[in-house]
Amino acid sequence: MNVSTKAMDKSAFTGAVLSKLRRRYGSSLHTELVNRNIVELFVAVFLSPQCTDKQTNRATVKLFEKYRTFGDYADSDLRTLMRLLSGLNYYKTKARNLKRSASIIVNRFNGKVPRTLSELMELPGVGRKVANVILNEGFGINEGIAVDTHCAVVARRLGLSRKKDPAMIEDDLKRKFRTKDWGSVSNLFIALGRDTCTARAKRCEDCVLRNLCPSSTAE
Ligand code: SF4
Repeated sequence: MNVSTKAMDKSAFTGAVLSKLRRRYGSSLHTELVNRNIVELFVAVFLSPQCTDKQTNRATVKLFEKYRTFGDYADSDLRTLMRLLSGLNYYKTKARNLKRSASIIVNRFNGKVPRTLSELMELPGVGRKVANVILNEGFGINEGIAVDTHCAVVARRLGLSRKKDPAMIEDDLKRKFRTKDWGSVSNLFIALGRDTCTARAKRCEDCVLRNLCPSSTAE
């Protein structure tokens, strides 16, 4: 039986979605970007747009050996930084922005990663999604929901948003889920979007949400 959103109270629907996804993927899902501290988390998330996590993790191994603090990145030689990041898409722009952002963090924020979305988004190269991931993963702060392509696909198929723009999808999701769950929503939707509900194909027969989802094609 498919229990659609129409047949269920909206908060019961979102609660059931989260509970099934937590059972499938665990309740403490975190980014797959390798990091040991807040500096490494910032750098890994900063470099991750338009790259797979595997690509980013490959690039950060040598980077994290060479640079430890934001001061190290701010003082780094740009050519060396570009060479170390050359396995990533847009590596020249990312290297320039990383050096500039690190310098701002040192000079304006005392070497500490800022803890608000607006301050983070003032840094060159930091967009809304990156800022949300840093806040949630680094500090457990839920100021927004990080919406990437996986999260967007799942949100639309579940009928939680009709929008295409990630910021507008984020607004729809923020209205539908409790603030304390915002970090989980992003991580769980991304996990489902990677292995079962991909943009190219949905495997509804294998999906834990098959009896809830309005787009399910499972019998
Ligand atoms: S039931 Fe199908 S469309 Fe719905 S979330 Fe699962 S895989 Fe995606």
